Amino acid sequence: MDHARNFYAGPSVLPVSVLEEIQKEMVDYKGSGLSLVETSHRSPEYDEVHFNAINLMKEIYGLPENYKVLFIGGGATMQFSMIPMNFLSGGRTCDFTLTGTWSKKAYDDAVKLGNVNVVFDGKDGSYTSLPDPATLKAGSGSSYFHMTSNETIGGIQWKDWPDTGDVPIFCDMSSDILSRPVPFEKFGMIYAGAQKNLGPSGLAVVIIREDMLDKVNPDITAYLDYRIHASKDSLYNTPPVFPIYAMSLVLQKVKDTGGLEGVMKRNAEKSGLIYDAIDNSGGFYKSPVDASVRSDMNVVFTMESEDLEKEFIAEAKKQRMYGLKGHRSVGGCRASIYNSLPVEDVKALTDFMKEFQKAKS
Ligand SMILES: *Cc1c(COP(=O)(O)O)cnc(C)c1O
Repeated sequence: MDHARNFYAGPSVLPVSVLEEIQKEMVDYKGSGLSLVETSHRSPEYDEVHFNAINLMKEIYGLPENYKVLFIGGGATMQFSMIPMNFLSGGRTCDFTLTGTWSKKAYDDAVKLGNVNVVFDGKDGSYTSLPDPATLKAGSGSSYFHMTSNETIGGIQWKDWPDTGDVPIFCDMSSDILSRPVPFEKFGMIYAGAQKNLGPSGLAVVIIREDMLDKVNPDITAYLDYRIHASKDSLYNTPPVFPIYAMSLVLQKVKDTGGLEGVMKRNAEKSGLIYDAIDNSGGFYKSPVDASVRSDMNVVFTMESEDLEKEFIAEAKKQRMYGLKGHRSVGGCRASIYNSLPVEDVKALTDFMKEFQKAKS
């Protein structure tokens, strides 16, 4: 049977070739006689996978020497706790941009541990737009400036970064990591749950500038301490072996298909196709977000009535297009079109959108 078309927001699409490779290697990893998931994380087999994943991430991003790639269990949500525990507690202050559900969650954890200065809150506009980054200023003496590069639920994405001077940007890139170049010199840290653009869930990838490690709260317990993960190359304890292994295959695939440039080219085509379909529908499909900050990863759209949306989602499902329901908090429809989603699947969706509209008018 053909693989269905996967528009889920997360966990989300993985390349079929990667799933097949995992299947092939699941019982006997490269002739070792064991599955990798039952092999010690101190074994040479796992070691190779682990450092290969780190190196591929560095290579694809062209990461400067003074940044470390860390793999930490617990997803991005764990980072919402770890960041303030490391960099905010002890009476320190940080800056926050509130741009939707995910930044709000990160904020809710941060305020429990220190002072948070809100530099932007999109609440009045129902989180459908973003300010010009040039208008944002970091507070003097702030430990970090927190942003969420892509709001997965609301479907908005920063297209540029503010100039925060000496204050490093810390950015949740869960839903658009590895989809475009990052000017790392502005960033003290980026982090992402793996299950959108990188692999299976349960793993966070953290890319942190080395000098940040000198600022860690010294009274922190081992697992929560970035210095421990950095000094042990994320092998202090048993890492999430399976997600890291699967991610290494995804990263290899990215490298083999044109690297970051290839990803960007495919993503531009995909988001162009679907936003064109919305814009050219004569108002049948509507994008509720400011056109200048539309997400290239999560395309949110609405129709005239909830009933019509329900029918659209059900009909799409019959055609084996899954995951088009909007998040329960905002409703409507959402097509998540992450890095691994083939262009053909977006074409199939836009064809279906046109057919559905025709049938209904
Ligand atoms: C999915 C997501 C998260 C949460 O990730 P978990 O791995 O479930 O903790 C955080 N931030 C953003 C932007 C997300 O899209």
